[in-house]
Amino acid sequence: MAKTHFYTDERTFWHSTGVQALFLPIGDWVEPPAGSYGADTPGSKRRIVNLVRASGLDQHLEICSAPNATLEQLLQVHPRQYLDDFKALSDEQGGELGLFAPFSRGGFEIATLSCGLAIAAVDAVMSGAARNAYALCRPAGHHCLADQSMGFCLLANIPVALEAARLRYGLKRMAVVDWDVHHGNGTQSIFYERGDVYTISLHQDRCFPPGYSGFDDRGAGDGAGCNLNIPLPAGSGHATYLRALERLVLPALEAYRPELIVVASGLDANAVDPLARQLLHSGSYRAMTRAMMGLAEEINARLAVIHEGGYAEAYVPFCGQAILETLSGTAMGVADPALEFFEQQQPAAKTQSFQDAWVDEMLAALEQKGA
Ligand code: ZN
Repeated sequence: MAKTHFYTDERTFWHSTGVQALFLPIGDWVEPPAGSYGADTPGSKRRIVNLVRASGLDQHLEICSAPNATLEQLLQVHPRQYLDDFKALSDEQGGELGLFAPFSRGGFEIATLSCGLAIAAVDAVMSGAARNAYALCRPAGHHCLADQSMGFCLLANIPVALEAARLRYGLKRMAVVDWDVHHGNGTQSIFYERGDVYTISLHQDRCFPPGYSGFDDRGAGDGAGCNLNIPLPAGSGHATYLRALERLVLPALEAYRPELIVVASGLDANAVDPLARQLLHSGSYRAMTRAMMGLAEEINARLAVIHEGGYAEAYVPFCGQAILETLSGTAMGVADPALEFFEQQQPAAKTQSFQDAWVDEMLAALEQKGA
């Protein structure tokens, strides 16, 4: 049986947002950080690779890099002007072309490499070379609009990868399930009027973009009914995410029957992430991955997982390891030292019933509209 492919490249960890305090630019009343340089540091991602190797999981994976995304591939999603501006600023001293998305000199080449990892992962599952695949992209992609970077995202990694796959394999229906804790606004905007890509985002209600919920935004034109936002209240944990997945996400995909499913896998809904307030743990990512694999098998879809955010440097690796173990059908005996602690922090019954009702209301609203 073909292996799980794991796409990663040390050079993507050399992307730098410059000096930030969390996500705040230095200046005015923001003191420069004494130690860690902001939220989007290489640590959380590089430590996934290190844990994979240290635990021996690498023996069960095909670990590889990939070529940079080509200009031709990028132009399927991004206008020429944006790419030219990005390259020019990157060749000079770096800078920023959108909200909360700084990069240093050479950022363009690192971003095209990150995007290339996503393209290769999707291609590997489509060609059958891989059983499934994980691309550890950095910088991430799901906030990037066609013509503007945003929220640590400089290129639309998943849309570019989907377009490459569509052109090569003639795909008619593709789906994106975004479980990053923030809304997948870039992916949504790029495919909003497209009926051949079903986009789903589970995210913390009103977190990022700030104030955005999105439940009523269901797509437009040819894409009407092909976009589903599932905003979850702050403090949602394992049970709420699994409930939303089982009641809303899986039925939507069963009805749509995509040939390819790409998970936009941010790991920042974990219980100690500095950029959100949810309560997931490694067991949640294990369960959600299992659910996506089960669905893909049931509807005969290919499955690729593309990394997005995740900023709790010490904890994110355990979530990444859980996903990779599940994808590859292995168990390396890596104990998550915080699992029991986070399980004890899950919402009490009263809060849980409020969150259950929140999910069920969305289900009722969808059924009422016959969607
Ligand atoms: Zn995120």
